[in-house]
Amino acid sequence: MARTRIALVGIGKIVHAQHVPALKASDAFEIVAAASPRSKLDGVPTFTSLAELLENGPVVDAVSLCQPPQARFGDALLAIRAGKHVLLEKPPTDTLSEAEEIGRLAAQADITVFNAWHSRFSPAVEPARAWIAGKALRRVRIEWKEDVRVWHPGQTWIWQPGGFGVFDPGINALSIVSAILPDPLFLQRARLAFPSNCQSPIDADLTFSTGGTPVEAVFDFLQTGPQTWSIWVETDQGTLELAKGGAEMAIDGVSQPLPAEAEYPSLYAYFAKLIAEGRSDVDVTPLRLVADAFLRGERTEAPPFVE
Ligand code: NAP
Repeated sequence: MARTRIALVGIGKIVHAQHVPALKASDAFEIVAAASPRSKLDGVPTFTSLAELLENGPVVDAVSLCQPPQARFGDALLAIRAGKHVLLEKPPTDTLSEAEEIGRLAAQADITVFNAWHSRFSPAVEPARAWIAGKALRRVRIEWKEDVRVWHPGQTWIWQPGGFGVFDPGINALSIVSAILPDPLFLQRARLAFPSNCQSPIDADLTFSTGGTPVEAVFDFLQTGPQTWSIWVETDQGTLELAKGGAEMAIDGVSQPLPAEAEYPSLYAYFAKLIAEGRSDVDVTPLRLVADAFLRGERTEAPPFVE
């Protein structure tokens, strides 16, 4: 079968670290072009915008939109209207209305749209969902603590309106819990701390409820030393720990064997399957939970952030 000709849009850290290697190893896709305001992608024609690529570039069947979320909606509309399959990096957009509109257009169009919550493709996620199913939940705790200076150097968009701040990684935790827990989550309360010179939060504490069980989350962007991306699910039959963002899983402290698949190769294999089956996957649940936190959360001020 012919490979899907794909263009990458927004050439930055995640494109180089994950999208390019996953696509180069895939039998289903071929990278044929790229678009980015300043950066280039070696080996393929790169245009300064998706509009220019669609007008003057090689024929593409699909696009992966990997620019910051504030800049994605316009390109998603362009791609959908041009009849291209669309993969949106997480978070798909920076407003719920835009994400809902993309979903509505996807349902009408004869193309695939995929909101790619990459953490859901971590090897521990499906085994964790299967283990939790049918057990009585007692308590869920999330700790997502990383050093923004290490993981997001120079990414000023994160601190601007619509940049998500600490929710940029935190939304990955929410994408996992909303996939592995059987019932929907409802925000009870939240506290979001905004540096006095930033438009997005640097740390946050959240409490959700799911089927009557409390879910507590702590997000921290100033964690030095060991970095933590962990979720603990206490049940009537033991405690599951998902660690390293879903790369590891333990039950009552005993490490569990996991499938060898890596996140982005699995994510692109799923995108290929969606295209082959003529389906879309436009879940917005993690974005909705973040929107709830921004709506209901108490706002506190933190010291200015200086990179
Ligand atoms: P990044 O390193 O800042 O790269 C984003 C790139 O987008 C920039 O290099 C910039 O390209 C380009 N860009 C900016 N405005 C644009 C526009 N209007 N149209 C097209 N391209 C534009 O950020 P990143 O870490 O790759 O993150 C990008 C997205 O991926 C975010 O939504 C993030 O949450 C997600 N993500 C990141 C990671 C990670 O570990 N970094 C992991 C998973 C997902 P120029 O250089 O050409 O200006």
